[in-house]
Amino acid sequence: MFSETVIRRCMNAVLNCSQRRGIANVEAIKTTPIRCANSVHRFLDRYDTFLFDCDGVLWGNDHVTPIDGISSAISMLQKLGKKLIDVTNNSTTSRLALQKKFTKYGFESPMENIFGPGYVSAKYLKEVLKVTGKTYLVCGDPVKWELDQLGMENVGCGSDVDKPTNDIHELLDHSFHDDIEAVLVGFDEHFSFNKIYKAASYVSNPHCHFVATNSLERGMFIGSAIDRSIIYTGAGILYVFGFWNRRLAPVSSSVMADSHVTDNMAAVNLSIMERSIYNTETNRRRLPLTGVMVNSVAIAANREPFVVGKPSRTMFDFVLKAHSDLNLKRTVFVGDNLKADMAFARTVGIDSALVLTGVHKVVDIQHHTDFTPTYVLNSLADIAC
Ligand SMILES: [Mg+2]
Repeated sequence: MFSETVIRRCMNAVLNCSQRRGIANVEAIKTTPIRCANSVHRFLDRYDTFLFDCDGVLWGNDHVTPIDGISSAISMLQKLGKKLIDVTNNSTTSRLALQKKFTKYGFESPMENIFGPGYVSAKYLKEVLKVTGKTYLVCGDPVKWELDQLGMENVGCGSDVDKPTNDIHELLDHSFHDDIEAVLVGFDEHFSFNKIYKAASYVSNPHCHFVATNSLERGMFIGSAIDRSIIYTGAGILYVFGFWNRRLAPVSSSVMADSHVTDNMAAVNLSIMERSIYNTETNRRRLPLTGVMVNSVAIAANREPFVVGKPSRTMFDFVLKAHSDLNLKRTVFVGDNLKADMAFARTVGIDSALVLTGVHKVVDIQHHTDFTPTYVLNSLADIAC
């Protein structure tokens, strides 16, 4: 697949780029053993089932930017007879919408292979908590759609019906349902003071279940993109952490520093560089995500929700329920987020692969050594090289 010359040329390209930016431990990189063709073959042979995160893996972390070569990689995995299952923490979309999005991006997935936090939350409320009455939703239409599919009664989706006020008497006159069994908080573009007030009031009743679709995701930049990936990508290299060392011992931060690009100063430099770029970008906007809404209600209620999304193993429990034939030793999770995806894989006891097309980069691993991935790939597309 790749000759040693090509691999060395690729490594040098990364080294030169990193050197120019003053962020890499060059001597350490030179010690890294990379056999791209063998590594890819072993990676593919080792697993029957590939669980994928979506944002930052199948398309950009902004939810819309295509990643070159992904449809070819998915097609190749399907031709090899691999089982592909999508496990996303995105509560802004339903399984139906995701399925349509897959088609738009050039690949297909059956509905039973798609697991989102809205769908799993609805299943959790119905099948685990045995909710039969009303659920108050602080969520958008996609999550409501999932509850509707299961025939679960729900209220609250959309703009709140009462007038915003800080007058205590008017607040006491706001409309409340007296038979709410559960509150579910996810991404809600109609999120408001009134919704916090009502959700917090409902879950102040200890008999009312308090569930969140996901909570790790708190905000992200939208607008013109900053290509962090240029620092470590462009060479088509597969970094392999786990084929051998995971079986022997956890990968320590010192091992990471010695073998894979980074050291503490590199992280500091990268952080400073990114901040300076963000500060000069006037057209970038900070988008609040689900964690903001979940935490707002939790703080007001003085109560923590049960969180369904990654890294909780609840998502995986429902994957296993639908796919009871999974062999965990031959299953790998491919994601872009150490705290969500790699932590999820660690929680459920399967191998993991970090792709560098989303949230986290190689330099971030040393700060999250508990979630060190088994493998690191520049992009999922690299497996089709
Ligand atoms: Mg992601």
